[in-house]
Amino acid sequence: MNAFVTRDGSGWMPQYLTAIDGTTCIGCGRCFKVCSREVMHLYGVDDAGEILGACDGEDDDFDGELNSMIMVVDHAGRCIGCGACARVCPKNCQTHVAADQVAP
Ligand code: SF4
Ligand code: SF4
Repeated sequence: MNAFVTRDGSGWMPQYLTAIDGTTCIGCGRCFKVCSREVMHLYGVDDAGEILGACDGEDDDFDGELNSMIMVVDHAGRCIGCGACARVCPKNCQTHVAADQVAP
């Protein structure tokens, strides 16, 4: 039996965000904007493709090393599996796993 239900008791299977492909993500920020749970954040990337760290939104160019930004799933445990992020991603670079399949 499905342990997950909506308010009226209907069956509902959460689809948890588990990963974002950094090679296809364009850092558009759409997924971040629709997520109510702060599951993912923008991270800076240098010319060599190395992740520099989280962008704090204060013109942080990582001492001139910043080349691009990608979204990183850094708080996966906060996800409620609503699926909103999947609906807005233009690059299909997210991986979601059903609640009854994801590792605890
Ligand atoms: S599935 Fe919902 S809660 Fe989880 S990361 Fe996406 S938008 Fe946030
Ligand atoms: S919506 Fe997709 S392409 Fe845009 S930042 Fe999120 S994962 Fe990356």
